[in-house]
Amino acid sequence: MSTVLPSQRDAGHPPAVPATMRAAVLHGPGDIRVDERPVPRPGPGEVLVQVAVCGACGTDLKIYDGHFPLTPPFGEFTPGHEWAGTVAATGPGVTEFAPGDRVCIEAHHGCGRCDNCLTGAYTCCLNYADAAKGHRASGLTADGGFAEYALHHVSALYRLPDGLTFDDAVLIATAGTGLFGLDVAGGFIAGQDVVVYGPGPIGLMTVQVCKQLAARQVILVGTRESRLAIGADLGADHVINSRDTDAVSAILDLTGGEGADLVIESAGSPGVPQQAVETVRRGGKILVVAFYPGDVTLDLSAVVRKGVQIHTSRGEGGNNVKRAVEMAAQGRLRCGELVTHRYPLEDIAEALRVVRERDGDPLKVVIEPEPR
Ligand SMILES: [Zn+2]
Ligand SMILES: [Zn+2]
Repeated sequence: MSTVLPSQRDAGHPPAVPATMRAAVLHGPGDIRVDERPVPRPGPGEVLVQVAVCGACGTDLKIYDGHFPLTPPFGEFTPGHEWAGTVAATGPGVTEFAPGDRVCIEAHHGCGRCDNCLTGAYTCCLNYADAAKGHRASGLTADGGFAEYALHHVSALYRLPDGLTFDDAVLIATAGTGLFGLDVAGGFIAGQDVVVYGPGPIGLMTVQVCKQLAARQVILVGTRESRLAIGADLGADHVINSRDTDAVSAILDLTGGEGADLVIESAGSPGVPQQAVETVRRGGKILVVAFYPGDVTLDLSAVVRKGVQIHTSRGEGGNNVKRAVEMAAQGRLRCGELVTHRYPLEDIAEALRVVRERDGDPLKVVIEPEPR
């Protein structure tokens, strides 16, 4: 089943917390089942959230297939890292939120004690996946949002303003990924040219962010006409279908032969990093925010010759979800409309199949764990 109706779960009132819940548990590669589980109780600094919606993405497929590093053992682990919902209970010391508050999240909470966390780089926490040291990446190294309830640390929650829906919240976290990447790469100057490879959710949110930050031209490159059309509607100045157009020469044409000041790679296709090298200007920047199915080959000598800086970033760190919330609240980001498919929790395997096979041309697929 799939509809494009807005979520019915945006009312926001404090739910009573039951003893057990339904949660999707990964039992082995390709084996995910909805089990009855105890509802976790929030400890110090933790918040229990009744999940309204949880997005699924390519990272979930890698987890589902058993190919993602540092996930907890089969039979115990609930994935889902793109969730939002209503606060159900707060642990000791949490005064920032109260039951009934609507929240969105970022996946990562760093340990707060390693060198990287102390300098703000908590998505690269040196105690990554070490729960005993306080690290938690929801749905990646700790139980996530494909469940009726999920725990998270208060540091990774953001209040969802009135007027924004839980569907919006899912894409706000995605916009945080783009903003964090810009943060890490040192951004760009208003009036410069930006290329975005990959019109998936990260690319489409990043297109909007770059237009709001006054890029001269945002050029979006992809292979699916339907997604490119959405990208144009969301503000991309030019869209290039690399199936039927030579993207490199088209970008050079659009940038006076020089290439773009900043090239953002969110496609995750093995051939795209080399296209990024060929379409960035001398002295420009490449930002990589994608994962790849295998090793990638590119002309690193050309990168050095051109004096290009390559940056990477993981997740939505640097407090950038807070900025994304604010941009969305100001009406500067279109978010929830990217949700094209929604499923109840029981249909999690079907939802993941749709993401994998791109059945029905999904953009953002979400699970709604309806309360009983
Ligand atoms: Zn994701
Ligand atoms: Zn750390």
